[in-house]
Amino acid sequence: SKRIALLTSGGDAPGMNAAIRGVVLACEKHDVQVYGYLQGYNGLIDDNYCLLTSDDVAQIVHLGGTILKSARCPQMCDDDGLKQAATNLMKSKIDALIVIGGDGSFNGLLALKRFWPGQMLGLPGTIDNDLDNTDYTIGFSTAINTALDAIDKIRDTAQAFDRVFAIELMGRHSGHLTFNTGIASGAEHIMSFENTNVSDTDKTLSELAQEINVIKQKRNRSYVIVVAENLWPGGVQTLATQLKQSHNIDCTVCVLGHIQRGGNPDAKDRVMATRMGVAAVQAVLLGETDKMVGEVNQEMVLVPLKTAIQQTKAVNSHLVEMQSTILKG
Ligand code: ATP
Repeated sequence: SKRIALLTSGGDAPGMNAAIRGVVLACEKHDVQVYGYLQGYNGLIDDNYCLLTSDDVAQIVHLGGTILKSARCPQMCDDDGLKQAATNLMKSKIDALIVIGGDGSFNGLLALKRFWPGQMLGLPGTIDNDLDNTDYTIGFSTAINTALDAIDKIRDTAQAFDRVFAIELMGRHSGHLTFNTGIASGAEHIMSFENTNVSDTDKTLSELAQEINVIKQKRNRSYVIVVAENLWPGGVQTLATQLKQSHNIDCTVCVLGHIQRGGNPDAKDRVMATRMGVAAVQAVLLGETDKMVGEVNQEMVLVPLKTAIQQTKAVNSHLVEMQSTILKG
């Protein structure tokens, strides 16, 4: 019977376990053995794996994190590490490798391709939603809801004191999480790559201060700014310090951080991850390789890995325009 290797890599995302479960259950149906490699690509290099059966995945669909563990693995960036991974895959007679991860993890697959001839499939697992040709990535929906829950709570306390808050959200270099959470939370201001000029921070800061002051003068109330990580030079704390120093505005900072990566996956992520896991196994059985399983218009699609990692999926421009239309001025 066929053998599939499975691993999770890069930043963990809620729903990875649901995807693992989908893969394992589909494999059992088709009499395929699943080798679960541990701690991302480290498992391949160290030959650290366990065989996965339906018993192992019976009670994980609702859990955040990943039972296979994740890790960064620098050795995948040099030939010795890649050769070691390939040797171990060949030794265990693996036919196909399925990786659940982000764009870095898919680059790892493409690198491994030079030394290992087996089939390769990727599942989009990242809260950043920054993979092309899939409407959503596994974990994105849950992360929005987790951040939203936190911001709703911050709003309560901000409102009690009429405070200005700057809240930093994850997303690496894309604003999907920041924009969606900002709109859903009713943030007064969204600062993300799509709508904020950071080449002239003084000007951007003055405009922000003016907006805050207009709202404060009209009616004293709280003011929430959501800020994408890696956007503001020096970070969100610097933004707050500058608001105080240049415009005498007190601004409380909250970095949501890893809270956004944890928690039980929501229904959307569980259903999509399960479908993607099953679809990946079907793709392997059909002989597909070098593809990512995506979801477009609620249908499963196969996308070349190279296309998926182009990093060109923009935040919906309507969201960007709408935000400025309804809140500015
Ligand atoms: P996320 O964006 O959610 O953190 P990711 O998959 O992009 O997920 P990375 O840390 O960028 O996370 O990559 C995960 C792993 O993939 C790396 O630790 C490394 O083992 C491998 N990898 C990344 N880039 C490359 C590359 N260019 N060549 C070979 N392997 C790579």
